[in-house]
This record gives sequence, C-alpha cells and structure tokens, in this order.
Amino acid sequence: MSESEPTTPPAPADFIRDIVAEDLQSGKHPLSVTRFPPEPNGYLHIGHAKSICLNFGIARETHGRCNLRMDDTNPTKEEVEYVESIQADVDWLIGGWADDRLGRKVPGDVSGSAVLPSEASGRTLEPFFASDYFEQMLALAVELIRRGKAYVCDLNPEEMSEYRGVPERPGKPSPWRERSVEENLDLFERMRKGEFPDGTRTLRSRIDMASPNIHLRDPALYRIRHATHHRTGDRWCLYPMYDYAHPISDYLEGITHSICTLEFEIHRPFYDWVLQSLNLPRTLPRQIEFARLSLGYTVMSKRKLLLLVEEGLVSGWDDPRMPTLSGLRRRGVRPEALRAFAAAIGVTKYNGLTEVSVFESCIRDDLNLVALRRLAVLRPIKVVLTNIAEGETHWFDAVNNPSNPELGTRKIAFTRELWIDSDDFMEVPPPKYFRLRPGGEVRLKYACIIRCDEVVKDAAGEVVELRCTADLETRSGGANAAKKVKGTIHWVSAAHAIRAEVRLYDRLFTEEAPEADGRDFKSVLNPESAHTITALLEPTLAEARQTDRFQFERVGYFTLDVPYSPTGVAPTSVPLIFNRTLGLKDSWAKEMAKK
Ligand code: ATP
Ligand code: MG
Repeated sequence: MSESEPTTPPAPADFIRDIVAEDLQSGKHPLSVTRFPPEPNGYLHIGHAKSICLNFGIARETHGRCNLRMDDTNPTKEEVEYVESIQADVDWLIGGWADDRLGRKVPGDVSGSAVLPSEASGRTLEPFFASDYFEQMLALAVELIRRGKAYVCDLNPEEMSEYRGVPERPGKPSPWRERSVEENLDLFERMRKGEFPDGTRTLRSRIDMASPNIHLRDPALYRIRHATHHRTGDRWCLYPMYDYAHPISDYLEGITHSICTLEFEIHRPFYDWVLQSLNLPRTLPRQIEFARLSLGYTVMSKRKLLLLVEEGLVSGWDDPRMPTLSGLRRRGVRPEALRAFAAAIGVTKYNGLTEVSVFESCIRDDLNLVALRRLAVLRPIKVVLTNIAEGETHWFDAVNNPSNPELGTRKIAFTRELWIDSDDFMEVPPPKYFRLRPGGEVRLKYACIIRCDEVVKDAAGEVVELRCTADLETRSGGANAAKKVKGTIHWVSAAHAIRAEVRLYDRLFTEEAPEADGRDFKSVLNPESAHTITALLEPTLAEARQTDRFQFERVGYFTLDVPYSPTGVAPTSVPLIFNRTLGLKDSWAKEMAKK
C-alpha cells in the first residue's frame, strides 16, 4: 500500500468547521480559504500536524483552498533548510490526501478579489512566503501613517515596555506619538533606507495607551534590523512585526478563516484593527483560535527541539524519538495515523494534555492493517532439531497480513538449525509459562510443534543450544495438525536468516509532563530511549522498501530506517537497519499499573 493512500475517515464537526460552513452558506465567502503559516525556524512537529490537518482538512471538505505560507519575517532565525523540510513534511502529511487544487500558488493583490488557483503548477505544494509581501506591507504601513494611525517612535525597547505599563493601569503615551504625518513619512523612509541603527526607532500603531489589552497599547509594526534574510538577502533592513505581517498576508492571499492557537486570542483585536484601519475593499479574514496540542512524554516547541538537536541529545531533527514529522516518519508512523489522530482528538477551545496512548493506538490501528507480518529474532538462541537431517528443508506458507488477504502469502524455510528468541525459553520457568522449557513443547509459528530434549551449556553455564525434536505431523495438513499446545513462538531458519541492525526506540522522556513544576526538561530524558541490537530476520526482509511497514510477529512494528532527505527520495542503497515504531501493546500502561 502506498504511503499516501487516502484512507483517513472524515473529521467530525467542530466549532471551527461550523463557522466555516455558516460563512459559506450565508454567502459571506464564495470559497473557504485557509492557510498553514509556519515560521521556517525549525522542523515541523506533531502539534503542527494538528493545525495542518485542520486547515487542509477544511479546504478539502468544503472544496476550498489552503495555502502553505512560510511566515518568514524574522531574518535572524530562519533558514532555507527549514523551508525545504517544512515543504517536504506538509507534502508527506497531506500530499496524497488533499484535493489537487490545495496549495497551488495564487497571486495575491491588494485590490482585486481572490484569484482562483492556476492550472499550471504541479502536485507538490508550492509555498507562499510572507517575505513576498514586504513591498505591499510597506505601502500599507505608509497608508497607516497617512491616516494618522501609525507613528515613528524613538523610544528604545526598554523604554517602550516601561511606557506600555501593566494591564491594571493605563500606560504612558510616547513623547513621539504626536509627530506630524510629514515627519513620520520622512523618518519611516529614512528607516527603510538604513539611516538608523537597530533598535533606535520603530514604527508603531497609534491605538490606545490606556487599553486594558496590552496588545492594543500602540504595538510596533516595524523594527529596524540590519540582517540578511534567507530569501530577500540584504534588500531590507526594516522588517514587519509578526502581528502586523500576519493579517496583511492573510488579506493578500484572500484568506477567509485565519485559524491559530489560543494564545493569539488576545492579539485578535489588533489583527482586526490592522485590517479595519486600511479600508480594504474585500471581505476581511476572520481569526479563530483553537487549543494547541500538548502530548505526553514529549516537548513540542521548536526552540526546545532545537536545543535537543544542538546539544546532541538526539541524532538530529529526524531522530526517530523526536515528535517532529521527519522523526515520526523515520520511525515508521504513516501520515494516515497522524490524520486519524488529528480527527480523534478533535478541535476545542480548552488546552490540555493529550495522552500519548491515544496517539499510539492510532499508529497501531493504522499499521495493523498494512504491516507485513515477518519473523524476526531479536535476541537469538540456537535450536537444533535432531530429527531433521542436515540439508533437509521444508517450506511452509505464511500469511503476510491476516486482516488483509490481499497482501498474500510467502514461503518460509524450516531446517535443522533454527534461532528462537531467548525470551521464549526458560530453564526453570514460573507457573503459567507456556513457552519452551526443558521437556516441554511449543508450536513454532507457521511450522510445527517441537519438544526440548536437552539443554547444552558452555563452560560458564550459559545456555548455548537447545536440542529438540520436531513433530512434522503437527504441521498444517499433517496427520496430527489439530494437536494443541499452549504456546506459539516465532523463529527463523539459521541457514536462511539475514543479519540486520535493529534500533529499539522508546519514549524520549521518563515523565508525562517533562516541564511540570518548572523542571528542566533535559533532566528527565529517558536514558533507555534507544537501543541498537543485531537481529536475525527472515530473508524476505532483505528486500524491504522505504514504504513498507512490518510487524515482527510477537515483537512490534518496524520500518526500514530512511533518514530525512530534502528531496524525499531515499538514497539508492539504504543499509539494512530497522527502526521500531512501537511495540504491539501498550507496555507502559502495564508498567504504570504495577506502580
Ligand atoms: P513553536 O512554539 O513550536 O515554535 P509556533 O506556534 O511558534 O510553534 P509556528 O511555526 O509559528 O510555530 O506555527 C505554525 C502554525 O502551527 C501556527 O498556526 C500555530 O498555531 C500552529 N501550531 C504550532 N504548534 C501547535 C500545536 N502544538 N498545536 C496546534 N497547532 C500548533
Ligand atoms: Mg512561532
């Protein structure tokens, strides 16, 4: 099954989808246009996936449009590497799912009506860039000055914050607030030309220094920053503030519903002020806030993830333990699971911690249907079947996925020497141990029942070999096929098995809320979160492809390790390394229950 097969169930209704439906029905907007606007200052994480699924999902369900927009107005933190990874990740998450029209580049303009997507571009999402609007943003800022709604302020950042004051008491107006329009226009032009050093002047809105909402006390529109931008180079030394750039970008792209997380609720009056102050001809976008995703046993802000990368606490942004989309993909999580997760958690107005088990069960539900069953022995112990001759080989049929017959069957070799997992043998087992023991019987999956006759140890007393007898009559179709034993274990033929590196990943943190009580999240990193072992696998796994998902029977879900590459194309020869996506059951729940 391909990575992008559209198997995601429709998302249930929520308050945002209701608003969009109402606005379309009332004719307020002929088409819904949403956007996903990441700042290219890091890789996308699972929180972004919630926003992507919401924004692109709405466009998909209402036959509207959704723009991927790089919110690149802060030159010092942004990089081309991040732009590329964001594009690759969004494409991966919604590429095969979204309507073809989504994300096609549409030219924005200040006066005209929203332009429909052109037919020209390809399937890959073409991002928009806020930096493409710098010229228009500047023109609109000049317009605000002309209307007496913006002024150049000479206060430095500390003074500005002191004048702004606290919500309980009115702030103090800047001494520069009453500058004439002419003087403001002149100074603003000189700021643009680079006449003043960083931090010496700002362009500020002129709203209300007494507002109880601190974000309406003349917030800055532009700051001076002599910095090289990853796209516009050294063309600008004046950059728009996020709160100004955002509504303008939304308007220019004809966005109808600007969906963001709850912490922006208090910024909404300013968002509306910017657009309303400009007397713009088109229907204005509406900002709507929803609760951000917080997930147990991880941290999610890009700043913190960057720290983990920079301090070498993980192998990179795509480390399979990271909550980044590139990490999750490398770990074997499919976009279908992320989209099902987004649908499962829904969209609300209340911030809370989502249990990681909810996410894990979405991953298991998805993988269970597509994963190819394979036999793999992670910690091998040798079994010698004394009644099978050397060179004698039996071929048994094995189903690739019991819940999906279309995935077919394969043949597996059964020979005199096998490997089983050392966990599946105990010399002195506790009660109710149904796996192999001296004198005991067990069924080998897809093959037959064996009996352990003799335990061979080395000089140090370590078990090195189990000498057993195979009862071939108990194989499928044999005279004794119906014979029952309590345990069934996995195995591989020693003559056929291949060796490969297997990486066993676990949660990155030992605490559900790594930052609770002001704790440093780095102090609760899980030291057991990554183990590398050499395993013995059935030989079909030598042909594993990037898109395949596997269930190593009785062990867990695994995938070929494919590090992130900006082109999305795997290197031609990938070394045979398998990453554990997750175990078959929620073993942590059991651990917790024991406590
Ligand atoms: P971070 O704190 O991780 O840097 P951010 O909000 O600064 O996140 P942006 O790149 O600005 O990151 O976010 C792009 C979009 O993704 C925004 O619309 C934001 O609301 C949304 N988003 C970011 N984090 C989450 C989250 N945890 N849950 C839901 N949406 C999120
Ligand atoms: Mg941000």
